[in-house]
Amino acid sequence: MALASTPSSPSPQSPSTSPQRRDILIVGGGFGGMYAVYKFREMGLQLQAFEAGGDVGGVWYWNRYPGARVDLPSIDYSYSFSPEIEQEWTWSEQFAAQPELLRYIDFVAKRLDLRPHFQFNTRVTSAAWDESRQLWVVKTDRGETYEAPYCVMATGPLSIPKEPDIPGVKRFKGRLLHSARWPHEPVDFTGKRVGVIGTGSTGIQVVQDVGPQAGELFVFQRTPSFTMPMRNETLTPEYVDEVKRNYAGIREIARSSTVGGSRPQSTRAFFSVTPNQRRVLLEDAWKQGGLSMLGTFADLMVNAEANEHVAEFVRGKIGEVVKDPKTAEALKPKGYPIFARRPCLDTSYYETYNLPNVHLVDCITDPIVEITEKGVRNESGETELDILILATGYDGLTGAMMAFDVTGRDGRTVRQKWQDGPRSTFGLMLEGFPNLFMTTGPNGPSALANIIRISEHDVDWIADAITHLKKNGLATIEPTVQAEDAWMEIVRSIAQRSLINKAKTWWVGANVKDKPQGLTMFTGGFLKYREYCAVPSANGYRDFQFEPQMEAVAA
Ligand code: NAP
Repeated sequence: MALASTPSSPSPQSPSTSPQRRDILIVGGGFGGMYAVYKFREMGLQLQAFEAGGDVGGVWYWNRYPGARVDLPSIDYSYSFSPEIEQEWTWSEQFAAQPELLRYIDFVAKRLDLRPHFQFNTRVTSAAWDESRQLWVVKTDRGETYEAPYCVMATGPLSIPKEPDIPGVKRFKGRLLHSARWPHEPVDFTGKRVGVIGTGSTGIQVVQDVGPQAGELFVFQRTPSFTMPMRNETLTPEYVDEVKRNYAGIREIARSSTVGGSRPQSTRAFFSVTPNQRRVLLEDAWKQGGLSMLGTFADLMVNAEANEHVAEFVRGKIGEVVKDPKTAEALKPKGYPIFARRPCLDTSYYETYNLPNVHLVDCITDPIVEITEKGVRNESGETELDILILATGYDGLTGAMMAFDVTGRDGRTVRQKWQDGPRSTFGLMLEGFPNLFMTTGPNGPSALANIIRISEHDVDWIADAITHLKKNGLATIEPTVQAEDAWMEIVRSIAQRSLINKAKTWWVGANVKDKPQGLTMFTGGFLKYREYCAVPSANGYRDFQFEPQMEAVAA
């Protein structure tokens, strides 16, 4: 690993009005954008990166809400491209909390000297392909223009927060907070009447952390989530040493797995063992905690009956923990398969409802009507609040790429291309948008595998594609329509077998009004995804089209 040495392109001190030329532009400063900056700098490319936030970190920069914590093991949820960073950084917990994740991100940014390449507090407002000059022209909200032959959208699947479509949000006179735009200074909940709308992964973490602090906590739940015990642990020095000795093997396992991590997996079908054995296996997994439940049986996402047995097991656990039977019943998810909505890991979520100051408001039997100046009005009446927390999620997968004008050949925008749902090749490239690359795009494994493994894979894939262009004196690369159709058919045919289709979630676009719905992520697992993506470089990018340099054409 080389430290910062090769050509760098520090941020200008004051906005410049004339277009600035680079080799490559990178949008986004999360895990994907940071690695892209490192990788392309090492390739000797002059680059400029943009980040709307005030620093690197992406989702972890914005999501500072109380209780924020990764629910993949920290060892897996970290970069694998640098053995030096693996050895120099030490995780303290099995599942790191947001402050530790930000410290890690800061460590990497300093170690690799990444920050000088970023313009922070800068939002890209448009990106357009200039056909005649074979350049991407990117404009920012600072009034600047940058141009480069290549552009990488490392904009992430979870970067556009969603406000709930409930009338009156702006009327609330108390303190309104969105989990994904949390203030940098601590919020004091002591003695306050606090409301939380949303019980996805975020809401669950907020509730278990704020419940014990608040005067009164009201949880407005529409769809209950299944959550399982995280059983987080402090990592012992012995464990950390062993991990550091074995990182190469750990990474290999992750890269060869379906989820891009070293979680337990099984080839056992649910009905291949007796009811008693099944019970023992599930009890064991529950006790073990973490992602063990997901690894008990191989067919839980394709066999609805097997899935329902596991769902019922978890419902039983909720009934055992939550003392008030009415609350317990309302917390039990029904009507969709377990794991079809993102499975959550909690530290004390169900226990929190046994606190006398924590109240569940079931918005299925008692829907929210409006947000008022004083709080939230359900059909049964108004709950007055000092603080209202929106944990209402994101316009996921496609939101960031459709939030600004991205214009390819013939004036066609990504918004137009994706009006019936996202389509791309590997979630990496778009037909009609030469030299535009995405990391963790909507037709890759995205939310279904470790985002850091995907980011590294995607950036490496882009680097290979650019190297191919340079080696062959070519100016542009772009998938053919046939390549894109073929990829989308693979995505569709595997997805139709998955039970993920049976839940209304951000995974299928159901959480945003008027958004095209459907499962467009690659559900075949990270290993298979890597195998598909490796084909083009092995066969000379047969399914991609290329253009020579304009000067070469003129000559
Ligand atoms: P989410 O899973 O989309 O959950 C949003 C919640 O808000 C849902 O419970 C939803 O209810 C509710 N909601 C939205 N509009 C509402 C309305 N009008 N009225 C009542 N309720 C409403 O979003 P999230 O919890 O922020 O999680 C998003 C993703 O972020 C996760 O799936 C995960 O990938 C990631 N994440 C990860 C971690 C981690 O690693 N530990 C932590 C947090 C988030 P309905 O379902 O009924 O619409």
